[in-house]
Amino acid sequence: MTEEVIEEIHNKVRQYAKDKGYVLNVDEKQLSAILRGLARNLERFGAAYCPCRLRSGDPEKDKIIICPCIYHEQEIEEQGSCHCRLFFKKKSE
Ligand code: SF4
Repeated sequence: MTEEVIEEIHNKVRQYAKDKGYVLNVDEKQLSAILRGLARNLERFGAAYCPCRLRSGDPEKDKIIICPCIYHEQEIEEQGSCHCRLFFKKKSE
């Protein structure tokens, strides 16, 4: 897995978080594990599928778990973070 792919995903999710008013996991190790998982899926399967959800193997069905998945907004709203703990709700100041 190339560092460039990880960096590319990092930049993408950082920008996404900024646009949506989320923050990325502040734990460097956890963040790095999630980014690596996304990069691995991108390299292996052609899309950044969620590293903590099961793919069905059907690309049409699995579209919903390409990061950011269809579930994350509700999860962040209800639990404070998405299932993988990549995106977090910003703490109110
Ligand atoms: S749970 Fe989080 S990391 Fe996984 S796909 Fe959804 S938004 Fe991305």
